[in-house]
Amino acid sequence: MTDTDILSMTYEELSEAFEKNSIQRFRAKQVWEWLHTHLVLDYDEMLNLPKSLRSELSEKFPIVRCFVRGKQVASDGTVKMLYELRDGDYVECVIMKYKYGNSICISTEVGCKMGCAFCASTIGGFKRKLSAGEMLSEIYLAQKETGERISHIVLMGMGEPLDNFDNVMRFITLVTDREGLNISMRNISLSTCGLVPQIKELMKLRLQLTLSVSLHAPNDEIRNKIMPVNRIYNTEELLGVCREYTAQTSRRISFEYAMLSGVNDSDECARELASRLKGMLCHVNLIPVNEVDESPFRPSSKERVKAFTGILQKGGINATVRRKLGSDIDASCGQLRLKTIKSKGGTV
Ligand code: SAH
Repeated sequence: MTDTDILSMTYEELSEAFEKNSIQRFRAKQVWEWLHTHLVLDYDEMLNLPKSLRSELSEKFPIVRCFVRGKQVASDGTVKMLYELRDGDYVECVIMKYKYGNSICISTEVGCKMGCAFCASTIGGFKRKLSAGEMLSEIYLAQKETGERISHIVLMGMGEPLDNFDNVMRFITLVTDREGLNISMRNISLSTCGLVPQIKELMKLRLQLTLSVSLHAPNDEIRNKIMPVNRIYNTEELLGVCREYTAQTSRRISFEYAMLSGVNDSDECARELASRLKGMLCHVNLIPVNEVDESPFRPSSKERVKAFTGILQKGGINATVRRKLGSDIDASCGQLRLKTIKSKGGTV
């Protein structure tokens, strides 16, 4: 975080920054409330601040945030927001309605370094990490646009959250702040492709969030083909740290498994997966892969998914198939951003 990035500051940091700049103390509380209670991201709308202070603040502490550039609403109520960042890049987030509340899936980076073969976020490579404030603004703007309170957050949009560890932890601190959006830690899921050292770091923090691990294969042979990260941290190492994680935190791990027709969806794959996860405090989320134009993978058939789920369950593994939301609005990672860039004649 830079020392001018006001939206990424905790209340204490903001107060200190104001003090250093000889801005009266009570102003810190006012500005914090505008930002994090009223979700106002523009000094000109902070009506109880004198004009001179507003212009001083815009100069010294420009609000680094997202700007709304598009909104799509699917027939099932899923909303996809397209945002532009101040340097002209795009990110997106998706708001899904569930019985238990509204869940938002946010991006943590522009592009992604991880190179998973089935994922649209990785096309065009990696641009940069998002700041904590930029991530917060994805939620604040979505809440304002939809007029509905967001209660759950999944860090499953574009990017690898654990590659942007410090900013993501800062984001989590801010979004769970009682004087801010006050989201319950238990309502936050963080998804990783399996960066083992960072999972260990996260484990030390003993947060009550849900860790999701994108496994997508039962062994190294298949995983190496679709997830380059597996050549650095293989399945044995990854599953080892996952067991440690559940032991240390008593939190159940959620394994993501995208079903790719003919690649990782055989009965044998299911049996191998069941045997490798046996006894672990975990849950497997099966997701028929979303088709991405640039990638050759096709989703497994309904029957295949059913058979695969059955084998896992028989093997004593908790497994469910993820309900597909928003498929009529390009709601899977990176798809809307790709379309926008292409429609502007750009390349990724
Ligand atoms: N980098 C993190 C989080 C972002 S991706 C991670 O890898 O977990 C969020 C989830 O969507 C991951 O499980 C990812 O593997 C999955 N995913 C990516 N592309 C997909 C696609 N085309 N269809 C289904 N799931 C996909």
